[in-house]
Amino acid sequence: MRFIVLGPPGAGKGTQSARLMQKYGIPQLSTGDMLRAAVAAATPVGLKAKALMDAGSLVPDDIVLKIIAERIEQPDAARGFILDGFPRTVNQARSLDALLKTKNMQLDGVIELKVDESALLGRIEHRAKETIAKGCAVRADDNPDAFKTRLDAYRAMTAPVSAYYAQAGRLKTVDGMAPIEAVAAAIDRATESLRG
Ligand code: AMP
Repeated sequence: MRFIVLGPPGAGKGTQSARLMQKYGIPQLSTGDMLRAAVAAATPVGLKAKALMDAGSLVPDDIVLKIIAERIEQPDAARGFILDGFPRTVNQARSLDALLKTKNMQLDGVIELKVDESALLGRIEHRAKETIAKGCAVRADDNPDAFKTRLDAYRAMTAPVSAYYAQAGRLKTVDGMAPIEAVAAAIDRATESLRG
């Protein structure tokens, strides 16, 4: 199974993708997590990406495409994967289609989490507080300034990705404002219908 989970920052993509990973036994491929790991390890990619990520801007398409192309080659992704935070631009979506085609892989579908924008900043602030309570480091981009840039990037670059997949008949939209369990149940219905 190969799914994409789409949605704005704070929509719950990470939480729901992690649950799908458990449910289907396939990895959650989060470009944000992979980039944060590259930043922490100060790799050449991490050094290029850090300032952009801290500011809440998107990292160039060629960087994330290379990361994804390498990651889906790994043995644990052979049975499928859940893409979390990728694709984030229509160019990335087109490139993903081309990449999957060369590997004879098919996308089962795209789950979009729809969330009221007014709720998002509160969710990000809540996540930052929970992280501090756990004694972990807060993400450098979980602050109001970077959040605004992330939301602007989402509106300008990522919202059109939904339309791209809707046109291809591969999009299911789920109400991301519902309680976590209700969102999970709606996603399960959506994934089952996409798998046919
Ligand atoms: P996330 O953890 O998905 O919120 O991603 C955190 C940050 O990593 C984003 O604000 C971007 O700077 C960068 N990033 C993650 N995924 C992508 C992507 N697919 N394209 C471009 N930048 C990305």
